[in-house]
Amino acid sequence: MNFETIAIREQSERSANSEHSVPVYLTSGFTFDDAEHARAVFAEEEQAFSYSRYNNPNTDELVDKIKRLENVDDALTTSSGMSAIFGALAPLLNAGDHAVVCRSVFGSTYQLFSNIFGRWNIGHTYVPADDCSCWEDAITPQTKILFVETPTNPALDLIDLKWAADLAKRHNLILLVDNTFSTPYLQRPADFGADIVLHSTTKYLDGQGRTLGGVIGGRQDLIDKIRPFVRQTGPCLSPFNAWVISKSLETLAIRLDRHCANALELAKRLEAHPAVERVKYPFLKSHPQYELARKQMRAGGGIVSIFVKGGLTEGKQFLDGLNMCSLSANLGDSRSIVTHPASTTHSKLSEEERLSVGISQNLVRISAGLEHVDDIWNDLKTSLDQLVGQTVLEG
Ligand code: PLP
Repeated sequence: MNFETIAIREQSERSANSEHSVPVYLTSGFTFDDAEHARAVFAEEEQAFSYSRYNNPNTDELVDKIKRLENVDDALTTSSGMSAIFGALAPLLNAGDHAVVCRSVFGSTYQLFSNIFGRWNIGHTYVPADDCSCWEDAITPQTKILFVETPTNPALDLIDLKWAADLAKRHNLILLVDNTFSTPYLQRPADFGADIVLHSTTKYLDGQGRTLGGVIGGRQDLIDKIRPFVRQTGPCLSPFNAWVISKSLETLAIRLDRHCANALELAKRLEAHPAVERVKYPFLKSHPQYELARKQMRAGGGIVSIFVKGGLTEGKQFLDGLNMCSLSANLGDSRSIVTHPASTTHSKLSEEERLSVGISQNLVRISAGLEHVDDIWNDLKTSLDQLVGQTVLEG
């Protein structure tokens, strides 16, 4: 079956009511036939639902879809993207271990390695996304993990997934890929050799900015280590959120086609605007890794990053001049969102740290929504046009 069909037709078993759309199982627990059945379920001799912190028909349906869409052995759901990332890393790392981490990972992932794991004597070395030549040197005998995100947020640099998987294999490391930006529709890290694939479903998998959620998928032996940790520490996905996210997957392909088409068109128009210094978008020919993007992604994704001419003042003026696009820190929504990373999502980093991941004061991230592209463009252009008249640009 094709991606679209799996995302629609993979479904929980119908109940006795023969419903067409899967119901929400809002129940914290399930009943047993008798005492022996209860014992057997807890001993994992029989498969049945027992408690929604473990799983539930709604989370199971989402898991079954992710397994097939990401082409992974097994998967589990969590309450947010960060609980998926923490829940996958914590059981795979012990005190004394070390991780090699692509420096431009999501801000909270960066904080996890910088401020939390260090207290448990788990070390890390950050490596640059735009220069892989030093990655191998960062690996020590204690290194267990290689953690990457591609494309990176918001610099939109790419990691060659096949190359990273080969490097991990040569050094016996576990490769974890945060695939939130691309979704399995645009890129399947496991096909290139990734061991674990992670998602914040809060972004494109939900796609309408309603729920928080996370997914961990990957190799069976690794999921078998991760599952007890997540079950026992408790960051479970609510059945309602699982239902919303699973329903959203039914439209993922069609939504992503439009997100990507809008983003590419906006990227081309932005490149030609006099108030824009530079545009980063993986499927623009001017992107330094255009060939790699074509090789490992189906399309360029829904995010476009631009550097407005000038600095912080111009970046903020651009945001303040918008009428329709939302000013929000989220992305992957049906509504277009414009974010200034230096003063919001990445404000906790020092200026030096920000520059090392390609975030200058004039970088603005645009999450292209599903509105008509001309309406998004009119909003962006009206605000950019106001910058063109300013003396700083005329100079
Ligand atoms: N990974 C990436 C790439 C993200 O963009 C985000 C959130 O913005 C996360 C992880 C964390 O996800 P959540 O906010 O669902 O915890």
